[in-house]
Amino acid sequence: MTISSKAEPPAEGRIEGPAPDASLADHGGETYSHRGLTYPLGRRGPGEGELIAIADGVGWARLPVPGSLKHINIWVLDDDEGVALVDTGLDIPPCREAWDALLAGPLAGMRITRIICTHFHPDHIGLAGWLTERFGVPLWMTREEWLFARMLTADVRDAPPKEAFTYWRAAGWDEERIAAEAAKGWGRFASVVTPVPVSFVRMQEGDTIRIGARDWRVVIGNGHCPEHACLIDEAGGIMIAGDQVLPRITSNVSLNLSEPEADPLGDWLVSIAKLRTLPDSLLVLPSHGEPFTGLHARLDALAEGHRGRLDALHETLAEPHRAVDCFSVLFGRKIEDNSFGLATGEAMAHLRHLEVEGRAVREVREGVSWYCAA
Ligand SMILES: [Zn+2]
Repeated sequence: MTISSKAEPPAEGRIEGPAPDASLADHGGETYSHRGLTYPLGRRGPGEGELIAIADGVGWARLPVPGSLKHINIWVLDDDEGVALVDTGLDIPPCREAWDALLAGPLAGMRITRIICTHFHPDHIGLAGWLTERFGVPLWMTREEWLFARMLTADVRDAPPKEAFTYWRAAGWDEERIAAEAAKGWGRFASVVTPVPVSFVRMQEGDTIRIGARDWRVVIGNGHCPEHACLIDEAGGIMIAGDQVLPRITSNVSLNLSEPEADPLGDWLVSIAKLRTLPDSLLVLPSHGEPFTGLHARLDALAEGHRGRLDALHETLAEPHRAVDCFSVLFGRKIEDNSFGLATGEAMAHLRHLEVEGRAVREVREGVSWYCAA
Protein backbone atom coordinates (compact mmCIF):
# COMPACT_ATOMS: atom_id res chain seq x y z
CA MET A 1 0.00 0.00 0.00
CA THR A 2 1.30 3.44 -0.84
CA ILE A 3 0.18 6.83 0.20
CA SER A 4 1.24 10.25 -0.80
CA SER A 5 -0.09 13.77 -0.89
CA LYS A 6 1.30 14.00 -4.43
CA ALA A 7 -0.30 12.75 -7.61
CA GLU A 8 2.51 10.40 -8.57
CA PRO A 9 3.00 7.23 -6.58
CA PRO A 10 5.72 7.44 -3.96
CA ALA A 11 8.03 4.66 -2.80
CA GLU A 12 6.28 1.66 -1.34
CA GLY A 13 4.53 2.22 1.96
CA ARG A 14 5.67 5.75 2.61
CA ILE A 15 4.43 9.27 2.67
CA GLU A 16 7.07 11.12 0.72
CA GLY A 17 8.45 14.31 2.14
CA PRO A 18 9.37 17.12 -0.20
CA ALA A 19 12.72 16.55 -1.91
CA PRO A 20 15.45 18.62 -0.22
CA ASP A 21 15.57 21.12 -3.06
CA ALA A 22 11.85 21.15 -3.83
CA SER A 23 9.87 24.33 -3.48
CA LEU A 24 7.60 24.20 -0.47
CA ALA A 25 5.19 26.63 -2.10
CA ASP A 26 2.75 23.85 -2.94
CA HIS A 27 2.60 22.97 0.72
CA GLY A 28 1.45 26.26 2.11
CA GLY A 29 4.19 28.76 1.65
CA GLU A 30 7.69 29.86 2.31
CA THR A 31 9.85 29.17 5.31
CA TYR A 32 8.88 31.75 7.86
CA SER A 33 10.61 32.79 11.08
CA HIS A 34 9.13 34.63 14.02
CA ARG A 35 10.18 35.04 17.66
CA GLY A 36 12.98 32.50 17.45
CA LEU A 37 10.80 29.85 15.78
CA THR A 38 11.09 28.74 12.18
CA TYR A 39 8.13 27.35 10.29
CA PRO A 40 9.72 25.37 7.45
CA LEU A 41 6.37 24.72 5.77
CA GLY A 42 5.19 28.27 6.16
CA ARG A 43 2.19 29.44 8.08
CA ARG A 44 -0.63 27.86 6.12
CA GLY A 45 -1.88 24.35 6.82
CA PRO A 46 -3.69 21.66 4.84
CA GLY A 47 -7.21 22.40 3.68
CA GLU A 48 -10.13 20.06 4.22
CA GLY A 49 -9.50 16.61 2.77
CA GLU A 50 -5.85 17.46 2.07
CA LEU A 51 -2.84 15.54 3.36
CA ILE A 52 0.53 17.30 3.32
CA ALA A 53 3.65 15.14 3.45
CA ILE A 54 6.03 16.74 5.90
CA ALA A 55 8.67 14.01 6.07
CA ASP A 56 9.05 10.45 4.80
CA GLY A 57 6.13 8.52 6.23
CA VAL A 58 4.61 11.47 8.10
CA GLY A 59 1.51 13.24 6.82
CA TRP A 60 -0.34 16.28 8.15
CA ALA A 61 -4.09 16.90 7.94
CA ARG A 62 -6.47 19.22 9.75
CA LEU A 63 -9.92 18.90 11.25
CA PRO A 64 -12.18 21.83 12.14
CA VAL A 65 -12.65 23.02 15.74
CA PRO A 66 -15.30 25.66 16.49
CA GLY A 67 -14.20 28.89 18.19
CA SER A 68 -10.83 30.57 18.25
CA LEU A 69 -8.76 27.38 17.86
CA LYS A 70 -10.26 26.84 14.37
CA HIS A 71 -8.48 23.53 13.77
CA ILE A 72 -6.65 20.57 15.24
CA ASN A 73 -3.72 18.97 13.43
CA ILE A 74 -3.72 15.24 13.00
CA TRP A 75 -0.77 13.13 11.92
CA VAL A 76 -0.82 10.18 9.56
CA LEU A 77 2.12 7.84 10.09
CA ASP A 78 3.15 5.10 7.70
CA ASP A 79 2.77 1.82 9.52
CA ASP A 80 3.27 -1.76 8.44
CA GLU A 81 0.88 -2.24 5.52
CA GLY A 82 -1.11 0.84 6.33
CA VAL A 83 -1.17 4.02 8.35
CA ALA A 84 -1.55 4.90 12.01
CA LEU A 85 -3.60 7.99 12.88
CA VAL A 86 -2.62 10.36 15.69
CA ASP A 87 -5.55 12.29 17.25
CA THR A 88 -9.07 12.30 15.93
CA GLY A 89 -11.08 15.55 16.28
CA LEU A 90 -14.37 16.33 18.01
CA ASP A 91 -17.48 14.27 17.42
CA ILE A 92 -19.25 17.01 15.48
CA PRO A 93 -20.61 16.69 11.93
CA PRO A 94 -17.90 18.90 10.32
CA CYS A 95 -15.16 16.63 11.76
CA ARG A 96 -16.85 13.45 10.56
CA GLU A 97 -17.21 15.09 7.12
CA ALA A 98 -13.52 16.06 7.15
CA TRP A 99 -12.58 12.45 7.98
CA ASP A 100 -14.84 11.19 5.20
CA ALA A 101 -13.08 13.56 2.78
CA LEU A 102 -9.65 12.30 3.88
CA LEU A 103 -10.69 8.65 3.77
CA ALA A 104 -12.22 9.07 0.31
CA GLY A 105 -9.29 11.22 -0.84
CA PRO A 106 -5.63 10.88 0.12
CA LEU A 107 -6.30 7.92 2.43
CA ALA A 108 -8.55 6.04 -0.01
CA GLY A 109 -7.78 2.33 0.03
CA MET A 110 -5.39 2.69 2.94
CA ARG A 111 -5.54 0.20 5.76
CA ILE A 112 -5.83 1.96 9.12
CA THR A 113 -3.65 0.09 11.64
CA ARG A 114 -4.24 1.88 14.96
CA ILE A 115 -5.52 5.08 16.51
CA ILE A 116 -3.19 6.96 18.83
CA CYS A 117 -4.41 9.77 21.10
CA THR A 118 -1.98 12.16 22.75
CA HIS A 119 -4.48 12.96 25.53
CA PHE A 120 -8.11 12.87 26.58
CA HIS A 121 -9.28 16.33 25.55
CA PRO A 122 -12.32 16.11 23.25
CA ASP A 123 -10.65 17.62 20.18
CA HIS A 124 -8.10 14.79 20.41
CA ILE A 125 -10.18 11.78 21.46
CA GLY A 126 -13.63 12.80 20.20
CA LEU A 127 -13.78 10.43 17.23
CA ALA A 128 -11.37 7.76 18.52
CA GLY A 129 -14.21 5.37 19.35
CA TRP A 130 -15.85 5.97 15.98
CA LEU A 131 -12.57 5.30 14.12
CA THR A 132 -11.51 2.23 16.15
CA GLU A 133 -14.99 0.75 15.66
CA ARG A 134 -15.10 1.59 11.96
CA PHE A 135 -11.71 0.02 11.22
CA GLY A 136 -11.59 -2.64 13.93
CA VAL A 137 -8.28 -1.36 15.28
CA PRO A 138 -6.91 -0.68 18.77
CA LEU A 139 -6.70 2.63 20.61
CA TRP A 140 -3.26 3.55 21.94
CA MET A 141 -3.10 5.99 24.88
CA THR A 142 -1.55 6.51 28.26
CA ARG A 143 -3.56 4.96 31.08
CA GLU A 144 -4.49 8.14 32.94
CA GLU A 145 -5.73 9.80 29.77
CA TRP A 146 -7.77 6.75 28.81
CA LEU A 147 -9.23 6.56 32.32
CA PHE A 148 -10.19 10.23 32.28
CA ALA A 149 -11.92 9.88 28.94
CA ARG A 150 -13.75 6.76 30.11
CA MET A 151 -14.75 8.46 33.35
CA LEU A 152 -16.00 11.67 31.74
CA THR A 153 -17.98 9.95 29.01
CA ALA A 154 -19.69 7.89 31.74
CA ASP A 155 -20.34 10.92 33.97
CA VAL A 156 -23.55 12.21 32.45
CA ARG A 157 -26.07 13.66 34.90
CA ASP A 158 -28.91 16.13 34.96
CA ALA A 159 -27.24 18.77 37.11
CA PRO A 160 -23.64 19.62 38.01
CA PRO A 161 -22.23 17.78 41.06
CA LYS A 162 -21.91 19.68 44.34
CA GLU A 163 -18.13 19.86 43.86
CA ALA A 164 -18.69 22.10 40.85
CA PHE A 165 -20.65 24.62 42.94
CA THR A 166 -17.94 24.49 45.62
CA TYR A 167 -15.32 25.20 42.98
CA TRP A 168 -17.19 28.11 41.39
CA ARG A 169 -17.87 29.70 44.79
CA ALA A 170 -14.25 29.26 45.86
CA ALA A 171 -13.16 31.11 42.71
CA GLY A 172 -15.47 34.01 43.53
CA TRP A 173 -18.24 33.51 40.97
CA ASP A 174 -21.45 35.34 41.86
CA GLU A 175 -24.71 33.44 42.27
CA GLU A 176 -26.06 34.69 38.95
CA ARG A 177 -23.08 33.27 37.02
CA ILE A 178 -23.26 30.01 38.97
CA ALA A 179 -26.97 29.62 38.15
CA ALA A 180 -26.33 30.33 34.45
CA GLU A 181 -23.52 27.77 34.35
CA ALA A 182 -25.58 25.17 36.22
CA ALA A 183 -28.44 25.66 33.75
CA LYS A 184 -26.15 24.36 31.00
CA GLY A 185 -26.32 20.94 32.64
CA TRP A 186 -23.49 18.45 32.91
CA GLY A 187 -21.93 16.03 30.48
CA ARG A 188 -20.78 18.30 27.68
CA PHE A 189 -17.68 16.10 27.32
CA ALA A 190 -19.77 13.08 26.38
CA SER A 191 -21.75 15.16 23.88
CA VAL A 192 -18.67 15.64 21.67
CA VAL A 193 -16.87 12.34 22.30
CA THR A 194 -17.92 8.97 20.87
CA PRO A 195 -17.88 6.04 23.32
CA VAL A 196 -14.28 5.36 24.29
CA PRO A 197 -13.15 1.77 23.68
CA VAL A 198 -13.43 -0.45 26.75
CA SER A 199 -9.91 -1.77 26.23
CA PHE A 200 -6.83 -0.05 24.92
CA VAL A 201 -3.08 -0.41 24.42
CA ARG A 202 -1.14 1.44 27.06
CA MET A 203 1.69 3.84 26.21
CA GLN A 204 3.96 4.86 29.05
CA GLU A 205 7.03 6.97 29.73
CA GLY A 206 10.11 5.60 28.02
CA ASP A 207 8.31 3.14 25.73
CA THR A 208 9.59 2.93 22.21
CA ILE A 209 6.87 2.32 19.67
CA ARG A 210 7.83 1.05 16.26
CA ILE A 211 5.52 2.56 13.64
CA GLY A 212 6.53 1.72 10.09
CA ALA A 213 10.18 2.62 9.63
CA ARG A 214 10.33 4.97 12.61
CA ASP A 215 10.88 4.42 16.34
CA TRP A 216 8.89 6.81 18.53
CA ARG A 217 9.85 7.28 22.17
CA VAL A 218 7.03 8.17 24.53
CA VAL A 219 7.75 11.23 26.68
CA ILE A 220 5.07 12.17 29.18
CA GLY A 221 4.10 15.73 30.01
CA ASN A 222 1.81 16.94 32.80
CA GLY A 223 -0.11 20.05 33.75
CA HIS A 224 -2.31 20.51 30.69
CA CYS A 225 -3.82 17.10 31.37
CA PRO A 226 -2.83 14.17 33.61
CA GLU A 227 -0.51 12.07 31.42
CA HIS A 228 0.01 13.65 28.01
CA ALA A 229 1.98 11.56 25.50
CA CYS A 230 4.53 13.21 23.25
CA LEU A 231 6.15 10.98 20.62
CA ILE A 232 9.78 11.62 19.77
CA ASP A 233 11.64 10.16 16.79
CA GLU A 234 15.10 11.39 17.66
CA ALA A 235 16.82 9.67 14.75
CA GLY A 236 14.34 11.23 12.33
CA GLY A 237 14.35 14.56 14.14
CA ILE A 238 10.59 14.79 14.72
CA MET A 239 8.47 15.38 17.82
CA ILE A 240 4.70 14.90 17.90
CA ALA A 241 4.00 17.41 20.65
CA GLY A 242 0.20 17.35 21.00
CA ASP A 243 -0.83 20.26 23.23
CA GLN A 244 2.30 20.01 25.37
CA VAL A 245 4.18 22.53 23.19
CA LEU A 246 2.27 24.94 20.96
CA PRO A 247 4.00 27.58 18.84
CA ARG A 248 1.83 30.66 19.38
CA ILE A 249 -0.89 30.07 21.93
CA THR A 250 -0.29 28.97 25.51
CA SER A 251 -1.77 25.61 26.42
CA ASN A 252 -4.50 25.81 29.02
CA VAL A 253 -3.22 24.93 32.49
CA SER A 254 -6.15 24.87 34.88
CA LEU A 255 -6.86 23.80 38.41
CA ASN A 256 -9.71 21.34 37.97
CA LEU A 257 -12.51 20.54 40.34
CA SER A 258 -11.55 16.85 40.28
CA GLU A 259 -8.33 17.69 42.15
CA PRO A 260 -8.61 21.11 43.80
CA GLU A 261 -5.46 20.63 45.90
CA ALA A 262 -3.26 19.73 42.92
CA ASP A 263 -0.57 22.03 41.49
CA PRO A 264 -0.99 21.71 37.71
CA LEU A 265 1.14 24.78 36.97
CA GLY A 266 3.97 23.27 39.03
CA ASP A 267 3.60 20.06 37.00
CA TRP A 268 3.58 22.11 33.79
CA LEU A 269 6.80 23.96 34.68
CA VAL A 270 8.52 20.67 35.56
CA SER A 271 7.43 19.28 32.19
CA ILE A 272 8.84 22.33 30.40
CA ALA A 273 12.21 21.72 32.08
CA LYS A 274 12.05 18.05 31.14
CA LEU A 275 11.25 18.74 27.47
CA ARG A 276 14.07 21.31 27.45
CA THR A 277 16.50 18.32 27.60
CA LEU A 278 15.30 17.15 24.16
CA PRO A 279 17.33 18.22 21.10
CA ASP A 280 16.61 21.75 19.95
CA SER A 281 16.79 20.58 16.34
CA LEU A 282 13.54 18.56 16.46
CA LEU A 283 10.82 19.49 14.01
CA VAL A 284 7.92 19.99 16.43
CA LEU A 285 4.47 18.91 15.26
CA PRO A 286 1.96 20.73 17.48
CA SER A 287 -1.77 20.06 17.66
CA HIS A 288 -2.60 23.70 16.89
CA GLY A 289 -0.58 25.99 14.62
CA GLU A 290 2.11 24.85 12.19
CA PRO A 291 5.16 22.56 12.46
CA PHE A 292 8.17 24.51 13.70
CA THR A 293 11.75 24.29 14.87
CA GLY A 294 12.99 26.21 17.90
CA LEU A 295 11.82 23.94 20.70
CA HIS A 296 14.12 25.46 23.31
CA ALA A 297 13.17 29.04 22.45
CA ARG A 298 9.51 28.17 22.70
CA LEU A 299 9.88 26.33 26.02
CA ASP A 300 11.93 29.22 27.43
CA ALA A 301 9.27 31.72 26.33
CA LEU A 302 6.52 29.61 27.92
CA ALA A 303 8.40 29.29 31.22
CA GLU A 304 9.22 33.01 31.26
CA GLY A 305 5.62 33.90 30.50
CA HIS A 306 4.32 31.89 33.44
CA ARG A 307 7.05 33.14 35.80
CA GLY A 308 6.34 36.74 34.80
CA ARG A 309 2.62 36.28 35.43
CA LEU A 310 3.31 34.61 38.79
CA ASP A 311 5.50 37.55 39.85
CA ALA A 312 2.91 40.10 38.74
CA LEU A 313 0.21 38.17 40.52
CA HIS A 314 2.30 37.93 43.68
CA GLU A 315 2.68 41.71 43.65
CA THR A 316 -1.07 42.31 43.43
CA LEU A 317 -1.64 39.95 46.35
CA ALA A 318 -0.48 42.69 48.70
CA GLU A 319 -4.27 43.04 48.90
CA PRO A 320 -6.46 39.91 49.22
CA HIS A 321 -7.74 38.64 45.84
CA ARG A 322 -10.11 35.95 44.67
CA ALA A 323 -9.43 34.10 41.40
CA VAL A 324 -11.95 36.30 39.55
CA ASP A 325 -10.10 39.43 40.72
CA CYS A 326 -6.89 38.28 38.99
CA PHE A 327 -7.98 38.22 35.34
CA SER A 328 -6.65 41.66 34.40
CA VAL A 329 -3.20 41.05 35.90
CA LEU A 330 -2.99 37.55 34.36
CA PHE A 331 -4.56 38.13 30.97
CA GLY A 332 -4.41 41.91 30.50
CA ARG A 333 -7.87 42.04 28.98
CA LYS A 334 -11.53 41.73 29.78
CA ILE A 335 -12.68 38.12 29.94
CA GLU A 336 -15.89 37.41 28.05
CA ASP A 337 -18.50 35.00 29.34
CA ASN A 338 -17.52 32.25 26.90
CA SER A 339 -13.97 32.08 28.28
CA PHE A 340 -14.81 32.83 31.91
CA GLY A 341 -14.51 29.17 32.94
CA LEU A 342 -11.11 28.75 31.28
CA ALA A 343 -9.83 32.01 32.76
CA THR A 344 -11.04 30.90 36.19
CA GLY A 345 -9.20 27.59 35.93
CA GLU A 346 -5.99 29.32 34.86
CA ALA A 347 -6.22 31.95 37.60
CA MET A 348 -6.83 29.21 40.18
CA ALA A 349 -3.79 27.29 38.86
CA HIS A 350 -1.53 30.35 39.21
CA LEU A 351 -2.82 31.19 42.70
CA ARG A 352 -2.51 27.61 43.83
CA HIS A 353 1.08 27.46 42.54
CA LEU A 354 2.01 30.59 44.51
CA GLU A 355 0.50 28.92 47.55
CA VAL A 356 2.48 25.70 46.99
CA GLU A 357 5.65 27.77 46.53
CA GLY A 358 4.97 29.45 49.87
CA ARG A 359 4.52 32.87 48.26
CA ALA A 360 0.80 33.15 48.99
CA VAL A 361 -1.61 32.06 51.67
CA ARG A 362 -5.23 31.11 51.14
CA GLU A 363 -7.99 31.98 53.53
CA VAL A 364 -11.44 30.50 52.92
CA ARG A 365 -14.28 32.77 54.03
CA GLU A 366 -17.86 31.58 53.45
CA GLY A 367 -16.63 29.19 50.78
CA VAL A 368 -14.64 31.83 48.89
CA SER A 369 -10.85 31.45 48.60
CA TRP A 370 -8.99 34.71 49.23
CA TYR A 371 -5.28 34.78 48.46
CA CYS A 372 -2.73 37.11 50.04
CA ALA A 373 1.04 37.40 49.54
CA ALA A 374 2.79 35.37 52.24
ZN1 LIG B 1 -5.54 19.57 25.19
